[in-house]
Amino acid sequence: MGDLLVDLQKCTRCGFCQDVCPTYKAELNEGSVARGRLKLAKMIEEGKYRWDRDSKLHKHINDCLLCGACVSNCPGSIPVSEVMIKARQKINKQSGTDLFYKVAYKGALSDQKKLKLGRNFMRLYQITGVKRLVTATGILKAIPPLKVMEERMPEVPKKTFFEMLPDLVVQLQNPKYKVAYFCGCATNSFFGDVGAATVKVLQKLNCQVYAPTVECCGEPHKGAGDLEEAKRLAKRNIDIFFNEKNFDFIITDCATCGSALKNYKRLLGDDIAYQMKAEQFSAAVYDLNQFIVYKTDALENISAIDNQEITVTYHDPCHLVRGQKISEAPREILKKIPSVVLVEMEDTNSCCGGAGSYGFTHHRLSKKFLQNKMEKVKATGANCLATCCPACMMQLGYGIRSEQLNMKLVHPVQLLDKALLQTIADQKVEG
Ligand code: SF4
Ligand code: SF4
Repeated sequence: MGDLLVDLQKCTRCGFCQDVCPTYKAELNEGSVARGRLKLAKMIEEGKYRWDRDSKLHKHINDCLLCGACVSNCPGSIPVSEVMIKARQKINKQSGTDLFYKVAYKGALSDQKKLKLGRNFMRLYQITGVKRLVTATGILKAIPPLKVMEERMPEVPKKTFFEMLPDLVVQLQNPKYKVAYFCGCATNSFFGDVGAATVKVLQKLNCQVYAPTVECCGEPHKGAGDLEEAKRLAKRNIDIFFNEKNFDFIITDCATCGSALKNYKRLLGDDIAYQMKAEQFSAAVYDLNQFIVYKTDALENISAIDNQEITVTYHDPCHLVRGQKISEAPREILKKIPSVVLVEMEDTNSCCGGAGSYGFTHHRLSKKFLQNKMEKVKATGANCLATCCPACMMQLGYGIRSEQLNMKLVHPVQLLDKALLQTIADQKVEG
């Protein structure tokens, strides 16, 4: 990451960021746009104010979605998200991390056992009738953060991805590639079916899949300004994969994980022991869509799904479209399925407000962004909404439930799994 003051001084105050910044459009406040945020950070850095969690200035730094929309519109390409992360790092140093970070990130995401415990607790709450009872009493209205969490939480499936894994992986006779699948925390916990479709599709494409249990990719910790924890997790993940060197690519179906893993080389760029390994690691990472479209012939062996027309609209996750500059590959997949009609929504690459845990920490603002997004989704008349990030899936799923829409929510790989003519049995080791 570059020098903070150098980046802050690059802003020419042209205001082009106003046109694209979701928080500015929602708040119409100079403190809620890149230009204002950079000015505040500069004043604090020059000693006019203190980096302090309780100060009102902190709110402006903390409200940034890190969506990167301003960066694409900024003539100086100022890395605003990186500047905000640095600013948050300084605030943490001055005032410590907040309670949400301590519980959800350092507590659960940094410790897969605790994350699983929390997930299982949530599932029990949903399926045992406790949720119905709590809803009927209206007790959660008195505890707004819990009400928000309950409202936004998707239906927790019976099994995690890693619990499904032993029944998914098969040994192939002559695999074309050996691939390591990085299944992130949210996909594992809440969208195991996406992970299962990923493994099945990769196997149908004659890839031998190896899916180790991994640590969180570290992107949430980085976004919250805890770069040390993000680095610790990155090193753990590098060690996990490099202990098993026998693969050609590292593949992930999660936009956020993909963006984080490809950035390990920058994150660990000044770590003498890890910089080389991090470079090799990041160079091996492929987004699943990118891998399918550019490294396989999957799209030549495709059929209609159940001979039924599905009208799909696609939402670009920030971490895919701006974080990795990938927008065409998922569309290629959708367009190649004969029974799928892709209808583009307006502003398809504007942030849905999911942004990691933004929905939980900034419910009011996040809901505004979601309502805008859902208006665009509804205008397409689609009966299926596709995207490639579990945080977006959580947010858009909340939108679908809130609006009571009769609409499926999928990762493109789930449709491809149904449309691929190739079967795993074609590839499997006989006997
Ligand atoms: S677009 Fe870039 S240079 Fe222009 S005001 Fe915004 S941050 Fe500053
Ligand atoms: S990263 Fe997104 S929310 Fe933050 S200032 Fe830029 S456009 Fe606005």
